Amino acid sequence: MEGQYSANPNRYESGMQYERCGRSGVLLPKVSLGFWHNFGAVDSYDRSREIVRYAFDHGITHFDLANNYGPPYGSAEETLGRLMDDDFRPYRDELFISTKAGYDMWQGPYGNWGSRKYLMASLDQSLRRMKLDYVDLFYSHRYDPETPLEETLQALVDVVRQGKALYVGISRWPLEATRFAAQYLKERDVPLLIYQGRLNMLDRAPMEEGILDFCAQEGIGFISFSPLAQGLLTDRYLNGIPEDSRMSKGKFLKASMLTPELLSQLQQWNHQASEHGMTLAEMALTWILQQHAVTSVLIGASSTLQLSNNLRCLK
Ligand code: NDP
Repeated sequence: MEGQYSANPNRYESGMQYERCGRSGVLLPKVSLGFWHNFGAVDSYDRSREIVRYAFDHGITHFDLANNYGPPYGSAEETLGRLMDDDFRPYRDELFISTKAGYDMWQGPYGNWGSRKYLMASLDQSLRRMKLDYVDLFYSHRYDPETPLEETLQALVDVVRQGKALYVGISRWPLEATRFAAQYLKERDVPLLIYQGRLNMLDRAPMEEGILDFCAQEGIGFISFSPLAQGLLTDRYLNGIPEDSRMSKGKFLKASMLTPELLSQLQQWNHQASEHGMTLAEMALTWILQQHAVTSVLIGASSTLQLSNNLRCLK
């Protein structure tokens, strides 16, 4: 892709809506973009760049990463770093960039889970790869049952004190630990900004487990990852498994998940959606955004066409 990037001057009038993240000063776009797939070194840089430009040009100001997104691990952050240099440095203050640590990242005892040692080193590495001075949001990517919660949470407090992150969040923590986190962080004046969990029409666990209610009650934002169930809640698999799809790669979305019962449920929802003049993807995203306490849906996209289709949920 050639040429100097100049962002769409009408990006904030293109239909994006912004929602307050819990009881904070931060507004997040209702649709945010995740870098888990499609932004690694194995993917075409030009296509990644096209998707990110399209997103920003349509008001998507929040990009979500993690240390080990790729593949290989770290390379999605490197892609973001390259994009900062190529296109986005002038727009840094219009972007809300998050990263995380909690899953396996490097070998040995200090590259996984929730120790202070891991979180601190990982964020430093992330900042170098992304070529950023700070991230807007740093997450503990998962609950670690073997590290004292105080240790993980104090590391989050300290990265804010050090100016390496502006806000902190947690992802995939159980309710009781989330309660503890909210209290611990509040007492240290680094309030828990957001909880990242999987909520979609096929997986309602955060609702059933009381996470959403807790977030609403405590003024914590909630962002839903894999809102399209990795593509199941779109028309992608209604007529077989396309060659270029995530399911055809078979690693994170397995063909065995697409049982005849699930397929018939998806077809039924697809039919219902079309009766309302929507696609299944639009219906799935709208359903999440209607739940109380939900701030944003964190979608993935392998093309600008998918992104533009998904943005129609805001109409
Ligand atoms: P989605 O559920 O939105 O799935 C995205 C995939 O669905 C796309 O890559 C594409 O797959 C397909 N798709 C999207 N839109 C359409 C469409 N309109 N028509 C047809 N197919 C479509 O989200 P992800 O699973 O990608 O997760 C999103 C983000 O959430 C991640 O990037 C990450 O930031 C975060 N996340 C966080 C986790 C955590 O532990 N905290 C765990 C997982 C994700 P295809 O490649 O087949 O085209």
